[in-house]
Amino acid sequence: MEQIYCHGCGVQIQTHSEKELGYAPLSALEREDVICKRCFRLKNYNEVQDVDLTDDDFLSMLHEIGDRNGLVVNIVDLFDVHGSFVRGLNRLVGDNEVVLVGNKVDLLPKSINHNKVKNWMKRVAKEFGLKVKEVYLVSSVKGINMEETAFELEKIRKGKDIFVVGCTNVGKSTFINYLINRSIEQEQVITTSYFPGTTLGFIDIPLDDQASMIDTPGIINDHQMAHYLSKKDLKTVTPKKEVKPKVFQLEAEQTLFIGGLARLDIDKVDEQKGFICYFSNDINIHRTKIDKADLLYDQHLGELLSPPTEETIETWPELEAKTFQINSEKKQDIVFSGLGWITVPNGQTTVKAYVPKGVRVLVRDAII
Ligand code: GDP
Repeated sequence: MEQIYCHGCGVQIQTHSEKELGYAPLSALEREDVICKRCFRLKNYNEVQDVDLTDDDFLSMLHEIGDRNGLVVNIVDLFDVHGSFVRGLNRLVGDNEVVLVGNKVDLLPKSINHNKVKNWMKRVAKEFGLKVKEVYLVSSVKGINMEETAFELEKIRKGKDIFVVGCTNVGKSTFINYLINRSIEQEQVITTSYFPGTTLGFIDIPLDDQASMIDTPGIINDHQMAHYLSKKDLKTVTPKKEVKPKVFQLEAEQTLFIGGLARLDIDKVDEQKGFICYFSNDINIHRTKIDKADLLYDQHLGELLSPPTEETIETWPELEAKTFQINSEKKQDIVFSGLGWITVPNGQTTVKAYVPKGVRVLVRDAII
């Protein structure tokens, strides 16, 4: 078959997978200037849509950014900051400045100190070797801090292009769509334009006569819980509203099940203490004794311990345990990537965290 390239973003057209780059329905191939679905939606509905890309493709795409002159805006999910960081971004952005946007601030408890979160994000960025110029906390769905951030980005970019990068599901499309809607006048139709020399699916949204905002495909991050979940379960697991902390008074030999998705055993703790859970309000948290936990899991996965539900269970892997010895003067968070976290009080505690193989668990200074 003859190779066809999208007239909008230059990507090679394919007709088999809607979620991947370059998709167009067969019927679209009859047209003279074929465009992919993503460009079609932008052109006709002024709306960008996310497509997924694997690590390798993504990295080669980022090289392209390093060779260009622009401001890189990296969107991360505030509910899963480590999990949604783009690894290797530091090596590939070249001399371009990087701004971090922490999205979904509406999910964090209102009492949270924004400056503390921003400083913590800067530290995380540093762990990933990334120097960031600024951090903004926004909710692109609720419009929180979006106007201020748009204004600041306009100042920082100094007339240059903006490259928007992020993992899938961080809200990159929602963020860009907000900015598009904010800037277009009724009659003005956004057009995509061919990005010379690339077939990597950059979408080019004009900001002014000289510069563009460039939407890049979302990278799939293997450490996220989302990869194991059906659409329905992902919906349950993804918080929709401000997360309400739930406190459990726990002592040694007790365990908490986060639905059936994860589990935290308290192996040692100096006395009974309050452990604070931050998860979607729709996930059931169940407390039991460690010696009963395995049996409970075998017998009640998908019922008392859910999600996972039917479709997810079919391919649900065994949970793997990781032990953490915490000896800290400050409270610590045990973070289950893509799911939420449990704040462990200060002092000496040994816990075992169970998650599906590959999902990251990490300990950080408590953010709340
Ligand atoms: P993308 O894959 O990065 O382009 O992400 P999307 O824009 O498609 O958003 C992924 C999911 O996160 C969707 O269910 C959105 O509704 C949700 N989302 C995006 N932005 C926000 C936000 O600011 N707050 C909340 N609570 N959800 C958001």
